[in-house]
Amino acid sequence: MRSTLRLANLVKEFESQKRTVRAVDDVSLDFPAGAFVTLLGPSGCGKTTVLRMIAGLETPTSGEIYLDDRPITAVPPNKRETAMVFQNYALFPHLTVFENVAYGLRLRKVPEAELRRAVAEKLEMMGLGSMADRQPNQLSGGQQQRVALARALVMSPKILLFDEPLSNLDAKLRIQVREDIRQLQRRLGVTTVYVTHDQEEAMAVSDYVVIMNAGRVEQAGPPEEIYYEPCSSFVADFIGGVNLIPARMSGPAEAVLLDRAVPVRNPFGAAVGQEVKLALRPEEVRLGEGPFAGTVERAIFLGRLTEYVIRVGGERLVAVVHGRHSRLSEGAVTNLDFNPGALVALTR
Ligand code: ATP
Repeated sequence: MRSTLRLANLVKEFESQKRTVRAVDDVSLDFPAGAFVTLLGPSGCGKTTVLRMIAGLETPTSGEIYLDDRPITAVPPNKRETAMVFQNYALFPHLTVFENVAYGLRLRKVPEAELRRAVAEKLEMMGLGSMADRQPNQLSGGQQQRVALARALVMSPKILLFDEPLSNLDAKLRIQVREDIRQLQRRLGVTTVYVTHDQEEAMAVSDYVVIMNAGRVEQAGPPEEIYYEPCSSFVADFIGGVNLIPARMSGPAEAVLLDRAVPVRNPFGAAVGQEVKLALRPEEVRLGEGPFAGTVERAIFLGRLTEYVIRVGGERLVAVVHGRHSRLSEGAVTNLDFNPGALVALTR
């Protein structure tokens, strides 16, 4: 059966140099059965502390954690049916790959034959079958990571937890391993909580992304929603490049931008006359025609796309264009427009 996880009003305070730090500030979240949920946010926002409370490695100051609707807040870590993959893998250096993976089952006193079968199956699943007798220092970073994952999965956890599992891998391997993790998670259907500060990684693997800021949940939703319907300038800015253009609402779904009335989406109910920030993704800017005129200040060739910094009136906009068509050089004057629905009025 797939498990659900629920956090209710979780608070965690640390005493640090006679000061109380509220690392997690009233976090409530629902993790649907089988979902891959990422906690995303800048350094210090509290995401690791939330993960450690789910694992039982930190005790909440207040609040409750429910696994399949049963409170587990007081259950010790080894009885929680959660398993964690750590950033530095936390493998035992003096044990073989086999014994590293077998460790938790030995603590559980699983009979030897059953243990051997379970470990061999997980090593095979992770492509580590031929490496069972090696020690961790005889493995590459990617292989050590797979051992850590096999060690977590062999416990048949109800909840799988990842704390920045890719940060010690190089850029290319990171993309491959994150795909491997995602496919494995889909196949097993295990409810997964994954901590990262890399927004692209979060969007690539997640069913739901939770954006955290200063100990609180700023926004939670599917990646597309977070990207296209950010609830605040913080979210819009954190989740990839965005233009945030000051404007004033001139109607329920209209704002005055650079002296011109433009249609905007107004999901947060900004009042007529209210000052807002219009969020605009760079790929939603159309160059070549349209009611606005701008001057290309910078053209940055990035291979698959070209990024333009364009001065329009008193504002600077970033636009991206794919492919090698319609290249503009620095100093060029161009007209521009925005895709329908691309401007979102943000009130904070
Ligand atoms: P990072 O990406 O840097 O790991 P994070 O979002 O995971 O950041 P946390 O590690 O959860 O953030 O930390 C949240 C806040 O709590 C930070 O201000 C941190 O300094 C503080 N904190 C975390 N653990 C402790 C501790 N054991 N004692 C005191 N303060 C702590």
